[in-house]
Amino acid sequence: GHISSNTFSSRVRVVLRVRPFLPSEIKAKEKSPIPCITLLDQENRIGQEVTIHIKDQWTSRNECYNLDSFFGQEHRVGQIFQREVSTVIPGIFQGFNATVFAYGATGSGKTYTMQGTEDEPGLIPLAMSTILSSCKNAQGSVEIAYYEIYMDRCYDLLEPKAKEIMTLDDKEGRLQMKGLSWAPVHSMDEFCDVFSTGVQRRKVAHTGLNDVSSRSHAVLAIKVTSGAVKGKLNLIDLAGNEDNRRTCNEGIRLQESAKINQSLFALSNVIYALNNNEPWIPYRDSKLTRILQDSLGGTSRALMIACLNPVSYQEAVHTVSLAARSRQI
Ligand code: ADP
Ligand code: MG
Repeated sequence: GHISSNTFSSRVRVVLRVRPFLPSEIKAKEKSPIPCITLLDQENRIGQEVTIHIKDQWTSRNECYNLDSFFGQEHRVGQIFQREVSTVIPGIFQGFNATVFAYGATGSGKTYTMQGTEDEPGLIPLAMSTILSSCKNAQGSVEIAYYEIYMDRCYDLLEPKAKEIMTLDDKEGRLQMKGLSWAPVHSMDEFCDVFSTGVQRRKVAHTGLNDVSSRSHAVLAIKVTSGAVKGKLNLIDLAGNEDNRRTCNEGIRLQESAKINQSLFALSNVIYALNNNEPWIPYRDSKLTRILQDSLGGTSRALMIACLNPVSYQEAVHTVSLAARSRQI
């Protein structure tokens, strides 16, 4: 078919991150544990595909998958930032959009990778401080929005009680989030204040339902305006993907789980279609992909970080098979 000039830029990179063992996982074993995921070929250069190997410790089952890059237990988030994220930031100042997703099961390290801790800041604070310092040079301004998508509804985490936001199609068929708040940010201190209030709100917004935060998608959007040029970076902590064959979900849990899996599957389909230059990109299959339509494909850049805990073979296969499938060309 027709190959446009943005063929390369619309490719979505899919990389893997395996978190270190937690103290509880080390104590549970007699001998020091071995991660079930390893890099098969030892080369791991940028721009080259890597093969990873997932092996079950108890049976001889094993699987191999190809991905764009691998970050093992010894890698820090700063290295992921340097290699995979910092490179898209200059484009934001030239008016391009970009999206970074953390994908994986609950407990795999998504929030740690995106938000990080005081000792080890994650991709969100790292990106924010790079953008703020670039802004000084480019004389730009920065605004942020922070919202979550839960059961296909959007909640503004910068508003008291995480007010629900309505979405509607404008005349050009683009999705608008009506009344979403954008907070101006001038310094890291100011950012941390606004963002941590939003994070806190996310934890308490859905009273009566416990742990909604791991079952909703959290989107931090950073908008940069430099002269007449506007660009946007979305940093997304996706809902934990669940394997319904293994979990015994009922009632609301089952409905949530179905919504989560549907939206993650829709995301995977969109990424697959983009990576294969398909003429039709199924953005409309979920709220998540609809909202991100302006920041996925076309001239936008995107990165999916599949996060894994190092102990569960089943979970690793479940997560990596979807990640590898999205990437497949
Ligand atoms: P998720 O958001 O995918 O549910 P978390 O980010 O909450 O997972 O991580 C689960 C646990 O693992 C947390 O206790 C977190 O502190 C720890 N953890 C995750 N990634 C790392 C890492 N790279 N280094 C050290 N601890 C980590
Ligand atoms: Mg989390």
